[in-house]
Amino acid sequence: MPPIGLLAELSHRCPLRCPYCSNPTELVRRSDELSTEEWLRVLDEASALGVVQVHLSGGEPTVRADLQEIVRKCAALGLYSNLITSGIGLSQTALAALVDRGLDHVQLSFQGATPEIADPIAGMPGAFESKRALAQRVVEIGVPLTVNAVIHRANIGEVGALIGLAVTLGAKRVEIAHAQYHGWALSNRAALMPALSEVLAAIAEVERLREDLDGTIVIDSVLPDYYARYPKACMGGWGRRSLNVTPKGDVLPCHAAESIHGMAFWNVRDRPLAEIWSRSPAFAAFRGVEWMREPCRSCDRREIDWGGCRCQALALAGDATQADPACHKSPYHAQLETIAAREATATAPAYRYRGYAAS
Ligand code: SF4
Ligand code: SF4
Repeated sequence: MPPIGLLAELSHRCPLRCPYCSNPTELVRRSDELSTEEWLRVLDEASALGVVQVHLSGGEPTVRADLQEIVRKCAALGLYSNLITSGIGLSQTALAALVDRGLDHVQLSFQGATPEIADPIAGMPGAFESKRALAQRVVEIGVPLTVNAVIHRANIGEVGALIGLAVTLGAKRVEIAHAQYHGWALSNRAALMPALSEVLAAIAEVERLREDLDGTIVIDSVLPDYYARYPKACMGGWGRRSLNVTPKGDVLPCHAAESIHGMAFWNVRDRPLAEIWSRSPAFAAFRGVEWMREPCRSCDRREIDWGGCRCQALALAGDATQADPACHKSPYHAQLETIAAREATATAPAYRYRGYAAS
């Protein structure tokens, strides 16, 4: 089956420092990033492979001076382009140029519904106002806007206000995404973990607003794994629907896969994307159901959630072939609940802000 989506992580550079960022804690440096020619070739190869949607992400994709060229290439190939941005540093002129070259959609992150909550999470004073101004420009220029809000301990009380903000801004869609603990988020888990009572209140608020705002805005909600009964089908199943190219060209089955130690990733500098998709050991490792052990092997949900997240299985059960501990059938599920209860009730430690290690 060919992939549908490509997550193109154009750069790990980002003006913000969100502690919930799912990028790896060892960020790719600018000097190691793929060149313009390499990205254009990746897009050619992705299109030939069957990809129809390209998510231009990072880090912050607008730090790349060649973003217009990349967007133009997507449009020339008939690929739907989605810019996933922090909203910092994208001027009116630069936005208009991207739209002129065929940009289809903008997804803008908000760290909170007010500057008082949002800016300390983003690690940048003034970030909230810059985002609000960009949202206005995106809507005025006529490109569909999605607001994305990662939810955790510091902003979980603002879920209703965040949805209200998205409506006020004119967004077509809002994603209420409870933090997923990979990369920087895993290292900040104790500071980010909300309490079960807060999670339940947030879920009820989303359900209420979904009814109230039916026809006004689409509300997507990603539930928190640590309070779940079943895991999510990570990436729609490992190596089934999408692939992820890192800033230096490694091709991953999911954005957190580098956390699986010992797994080797083939690189677009060495091999064509089609060969990587079909033959790379990393993609083959957890594709389908053959790799599964109990309880997944005999479970009737195995082709619904595909055993959940491999990276979370490794992080919490110490073995990437285990069922995702978010599943109540996992022998490690009780451990997950214990971690959540302990971290949510302890005093939150200071954030470890995202950034490059001093070299
Ligand atoms: S989560 Fe925050 S720090 Fe990470 S890439 Fe997005 S805006 Fe930048
Ligand atoms: S046992 Fe495995 S396949 Fe079944 S619900 Fe749990 S994680 Fe999914």
